[in-house]
This record gives sequence, structure tokens and C-alpha cells, in this order.
Amino acid sequence: MRDLALLPKAHLHLHFTGSMRVSTLGELAERHGIRLPAVLLDADPLHVPADERGWFRFQRLYDAARACVRGESDMRRIIAEAAADDAAERSGRLEIQVDPTSYAPFVGGITPALEIVLDEARASSQRAGVDIGVVVAASRMRHPLEARTLARLAARHAGDGPGQVVGFGLSNDERRGDTAEFAPAFAIARRAGLASVPHGGELLGPAHVQDVVTHLHPDRLGHGVRTGEDPRLLDEVVASGVALEVCPASNVSLGVYPDAASVPLRALVDAGAQVALGADDPLLFRSRLLAQYEVARDVHGFDDEALADLARSSIRASRAGEAVRARLLAGVDDWLASPDA
Ligand SMILES: [Zn+2]
Repeated sequence: MRDLALLPKAHLHLHFTGSMRVSTLGELAERHGIRLPAVLLDADPLHVPADERGWFRFQRLYDAARACVRGESDMRRIIAEAAADDAAERSGRLEIQVDPTSYAPFVGGITPALEIVLDEARASSQRAGVDIGVVVAASRMRHPLEARTLARLAARHAGDGPGQVVGFGLSNDERRGDTAEFAPAFAIARRAGLASVPHGGELLGPAHVQDVVTHLHPDRLGHGVRTGEDPRLLDEVVASGVALEVCPASNVSLGVYPDAASVPLRALVDAGAQVALGADDPLLFRSRLLAQYEVARDVHGFDDEALADLARSSIRASRAGEAVRARLLAGVDDWLASPDA
């Protein structure tokens, strides 16, 4: 068994606030005089049922954490630490999702909010040695017109280099909002060359995945784990090259599956799906990227060849530039060629 902490990988599903270290959240809360729910700072991962009340509880905690991010230095710190933590787990490419709307009130609008994130992503890429692209994500809970505004903002910063916007997402409770109404925002993003990376197939099953595919033309699905409940749809998704950002710890924390063994990782990979493992919100799920690869090995029995394939798949599904992809893929070959400890 080779050391998974040395396996080069790409991390394609990580939310800005959700990436925060617990210790950082505690410090920010103290500095801003905010009292946090104790559960945010204790040692245990969140565990809620996959119903509306469970999601509400998750969202309330997430909002409480987000309320502690109050300005440019807090925002820069989150990106810098996400980069350092990803680098420590040998992620060579991070695509971090942010909805700049949440931080706009503290920095004078969504444009400066996004520009701060992009500028720090550029600086942190240099410092940490992780190539960082940004996904601008709209929320299902807000008006679709707001998503269009975000898509236009994202489009102005499109590119595959560090500190550029690589994709456009749609997050929050999949059961809320009308997916079709977000199609115009995704069309704007697509015309600018951005990847379409909406959440889907997490809290809802194949019928909604079909909706997302039809209206938002995803390059990657955030989660997408429930696609396989309809094997024909999964075949279609595989054939059209839509990658799945699978986040096992998140699925267990949010009650989508009762335990890690029930996450259909093996079935998805066996069906030919291009899977990129991700951590989603390590702040709440207490589990980062490396831990997802450990689950693949320890719970799902992936051997080193299969783990290397997962890493390759994450790199290929990323929007990194050709040189970065080639370097990371060569690193995976080197890892596999290294002696098995
Ligand atoms: Zn997510």
C-alpha cells in the first residue's frame, strides 16, 4: 500500500466557507464577538437526516459559520488555508466554489468580493504550490435573475490559470427552486467557456439528474451519486462524459446514505463514470480530501491501481491548463511506479 498523502490529485468539490478550519472559525467568531452553536466547534462530524429538517439544521450551522467571515482579511485567510491544507494532502489543483453574494456586504459588492477571492487564489497558488481555479456558484434559494448577474460576473474572469474562474455552479437544497429557471444563467456561463458544475443527484434521484442534464448541460455533477438509481441514465451520463464529484463523507453526514459502505462509489466507477472525490464542507463533516481516498481504499477495497485511476479521473475532470494536467498525471504514474511499502 502506497502513501495516499503522496498521490497527486485534483480537488473539484470544496465550498469556500465549508473549507474553513475549525480553529479558524473559532478565532474569527471570537474576533467579531459572535457566539457560535457549540456543535460547530466540537470534535464530531455533523450528522443529520436527509429530510428538509436535516438540511435546515445543516444550513443554519453553515450560515452561522458564514456570518463569521466579515471582510477581506477573513476571506483571504480562508483561501490561503484551503490552499495549504490541500497542498498538505498533495492536491495539485483545487477548484473552490464561492457565492460572492454572501460576502459582498462587507467589501462593497459582489465584484470586489469575487476579485478578493481571485486575487488571493492567485497568490495562494504561488505560495502553496496548488493551482487554484474558482467556481462561482449561484444559490437555488435565490431568484434566477441573481444567478444571471453572477454568471455575467463570472464570465468576465473566465480562464484556466490560477485565480481565474473556471466554472459556474448551483448549490443549496436540491429540492428547492426550479432547475429550468436557471438555464439562462448557465447559458451565459457556457458562452464564456466556463464549465457547468451544478449540484444534482444528491438529495434527489434520477428524475432531477435528468432535469439538470436537460437544462444546465453539466460538465460535472456536484455529487450525482444517485444517478445510478436509473442505470440507463447513468449510462447516458457516462457516455456524454459528465464527471461526478463524489463526496462520501458529505453523503454520510447529510444522511444521503447511512454509512460510507453504502455510498455507491464502486458501482459508479464500475459503470465507467468519471469520478472526482471531494470533501464538500470539511468544516462541518470533519473530513478532508485525503480521507475520501482512504474511504475508497479502506471501505470500498480500491487497490493502488484503482486509487491512481481515481486520482487521474479527478485531474482529467478538472479545468486545469494542459501543462498542470500533464504534470499531475505524470506524478500519478510516478506514485504508482514507486515501491509498494
Ligand atoms: Zn457541495
